[in-house]
Amino acid sequence: MDSDLTSRILHAVDAHFSEQIEFLATLTAHPSTRGNEQSAQAFMADELTSRGYEVDQWQIDVEDIRHLPGFSPVLGPYEDAVNVVGTHRSRSNKGRSLILNGHIDVVPEGPLDMWDSPPYEPRVADGWMYGRGAGDMKAGLVSNLFALDALRCLGLAPAADVFYQSVVEEECTGNGALACLARGYKADAALIPEPFAETLVTAQLGVLWFQVHLKGLPTHVAYAGQGANAIEAAIPLISALHEMEARWNGAEYRHCDYAHMDHALNLNIGKIQGGDWTSSVPAWCVFDVRMAIFPGQSIDAAKAEIEAVLMEAARGNDFLKNALPEIVYHGFHAEGYALSDDKSVAAQDAISALDMAHSAVTGGTLDRAAITATTDARFFGLYADTPALVYGPRAEAIHGFNERVELESMRRVTQATALFIADWCGVEDI
Ligand SMILES: [Zn+2]
Repeated sequence: MDSDLTSRILHAVDAHFSEQIEFLATLTAHPSTRGNEQSAQAFMADELTSRGYEVDQWQIDVEDIRHLPGFSPVLGPYEDAVNVVGTHRSRSNKGRSLILNGHIDVVPEGPLDMWDSPPYEPRVADGWMYGRGAGDMKAGLVSNLFALDALRCLGLAPAADVFYQSVVEEECTGNGALACLARGYKADAALIPEPFAETLVTAQLGVLWFQVHLKGLPTHVAYAGQGANAIEAAIPLISALHEMEARWNGAEYRHCDYAHMDHALNLNIGKIQGGDWTSSVPAWCVFDVRMAIFPGQSIDAAKAEIEAVLMEAARGNDFLKNALPEIVYHGFHAEGYALSDDKSVAAQDAISALDMAHSAVTGGTLDRAAITATTDARFFGLYADTPALVYGPRAEAIHGFNERVELESMRRVTQATALFIADWCGVEDI
């Protein structure tokens, strides 16, 4: 790309950057936790429409995706799960097509008194914007949109089709991105600006969610010896799961991108419920578990081992051997994905285009990172033969209190994204 166009694109992002910050604040003010994304999605759909994109807004139907690889089981209905895609149709189609993907759903904010300011009243201080979802990943969604805006204000458009996706369900299943695939959205590459500090993600872990249901034998606590405590019965099972976690992290099992990490796979007991009364031996307990797996590790084999570990621990317990736990899968059934394993020409070209874009903005080289979480990249990479680049701004305390995103980092990512689009897709006059 010629240096004149490069500098015009960089300036175009700068010229609209204060507007971009305003836009991010407006979007962050929508409390788009799972099931509550509609107002944020309606806002995105309006913004895409007003920019002239062809907008597709639809409710996810589980029956459309249930049979597809990468589907994650869900407990509840999908009445509230709405995806939004804005399409730019190129007139010349001389370049390579692109998916710009981001998720609108945010995780629950937790106890409000742990926040220094209300999570859905975004504020800027010292160059950071605070708010639930500001970093993960509304800054990325906004960056994708304003990267396209920057080209447009120069009188340019991508010279290939571009699909701007704002999806739900990233934080629990990925079924939003899967529904986009099922609806026919395909492209030559995908870019997802998840907030990993301006690094290119080379690999991401898979994630499994499951629940363990335990039944006890309720009695008055005065005769506890005759009962069986379902909550305490969870303790040996949790210990057995942590032993399995240590084994799976063994050096011999690691994907090469994680060879240097002693503990990439984390098992989390994320929720526990049980019992009905302080002076009654609890009759029931349910705990929710998140466990990670490496790229290449089979989900079916992982599930079989989890079940075997739980059953073996239960059989070693006097009460549980006669009241075996029930295991219920809901949420993430996510395989790992490594862009670094994709040796295709398309992947190499996309990576080098991003390398150049990042260098043009920062003057430095694009660092690589293997992350210990999952993203929607797996759908494009594993199930659509589309290299998926995860590259987004610097954020802190995502999923925590006082989540924040660095605004100058969002500016640089927006500039790099605009340059990447111009290079990957080429440009044509509007
Ligand atoms: Zn995210």
